Amino acid sequence: MSDTDRPALTTSAHMYLHYCEETDCNEWGSWGNSPSSAGSTRWWCFEHYPHKSYEQEQVLRLKLEAAEHGADIQ
Ligand SMILES: [Zn+2]
Repeated sequence: MSDTDRPALTTSAHMYLHYCEETDCNEWGSWGNSPSSAGSTRWWCFEHYPHKSYEQEQVLRLKLEAAEHGADIQ
């Protein structure tokens, strides 16, 4: 990767680079949660996101189980 052809990043809060805050996890933190409108947003990957709904938990569990068994769910 070259630094010279990288598009310029803006300083917009929405463009802030955030990775999963779980220790030793280098996944992209695409799942954010803010305790209040005034609080700073925290970010996790889907697997570590602590505020998943019940349905989201089921989806993750199915994916993990499928991965363990070497299966590929659609
Ligand atoms: Zn993570």
